[in-house]
Amino acid sequence: MNAATPTPTPERTRPVLAIHGGAGTLLRSQMTPAKEREYLAAMESILLAGQAQLAAGAAALDVVVEAVRRLEECELFNAGRGAVYTAAGTHELDASVMDGRNLQAGAVAGVTRTRNPVLAARAVMQHSEHLMFIGAAADAFAAAQGLAQVEPAWFGTEARLAQLRRAQETDSGALLDHDGQSQVAAASGPIDERSKTGTVGAVALDAQGHLAAATSTGGMTNKRPGRVGDSPIIGAGCYANDATVAVSCTGTGEAFMRSCAAFDVSALMAYAGLDLAAAAERVVHQHLPQVGGSGGLIAVSARGEISLCFNSEGMYRGHVRGDEAPAVAIYGEAGE
Ligand code: ASP
Repeated sequence: MNAATPTPTPERTRPVLAIHGGAGTLLRSQMTPAKEREYLAAMESILLAGQAQLAAGAAALDVVVEAVRRLEECELFNAGRGAVYTAAGTHELDASVMDGRNLQAGAVAGVTRTRNPVLAARAVMQHSEHLMFIGAAADAFAAAQGLAQVEPAWFGTEARLAQLRRAQETDSGALLDHDGQSQVAAASGPIDERSKTGTVGAVALDAQGHLAAATSTGGMTNKRPGRVGDSPIIGAGCYANDATVAVSCTGTGEAFMRSCAAFDVSALMAYAGLDLAAAAERVVHQHLPQVGGSGGLIAVSARGEISLCFNSEGMYRGHVRGDEAPAVAIYGEAGE
């Protein structure tokens, strides 16, 4: 091989970042071209920022936290600003992070004032002896760590308030964004706001071969105050282990918790010897449906395999590998 021929880079050292912005009934027929462009552009710019970090040698943990922070700041998604409302017309935010290098993890649930819950989750991991803080004490911990606090109303948007009103008018109870689509689809604008999901997440493999995952959410529209879903539960909505895989989930949280969905992917790889595609397929298309679970997950394995797998009509998703152009998508085959 002469000097002009680049040495092929092994997959393992080619960094990977994948992100999601929620899964659900996402149909092209219910989306305007302008809205679609907005979502795709938002995901693409976040992937490009992460790609630059990874190229500069950043750790997977830093990259997933920053990607999720940016997703929280984007009001298109149900996390941070733009989070869904509880039945009481408030916001309760959940987030988690996990570092595949050492199985360290941090989480917060039910925060109402911390601007970026993912930063609070990371602070819990790095600056406390515990894994999870909840409610006002979690906000107080984040504030003590110097993390930005906002008035609770800051998280709200007109679109999310309309979503809550529709859920309450139709007496639909606590709704995952994924569920209860049909009865309001016609009245809901370009996308049924209740079937559209927006929990966000990121998984990455860095150039040093380390994995990390992060997940953040406002939960479900019209949820009962105090309800916590899978997103801040390590092993359910988030998991990372350098030996196997990094996973971030989105979907009907109770089912993801009952399935230990994120850990299930890792366990199938570690104990049953499945590759990532087979493990993700088994969890999303077999194990989750057995407990009524709808949604999907993004995952990257220690070998650099990527899975963006869902059993709903669509999932906001994207990935970037090495210096390749980012790939972003919304619909599944059924959503076209
Ligand atoms: N999994 C989230 C929850 O149950 C919701 C979602 O992914 O949209 O809180």
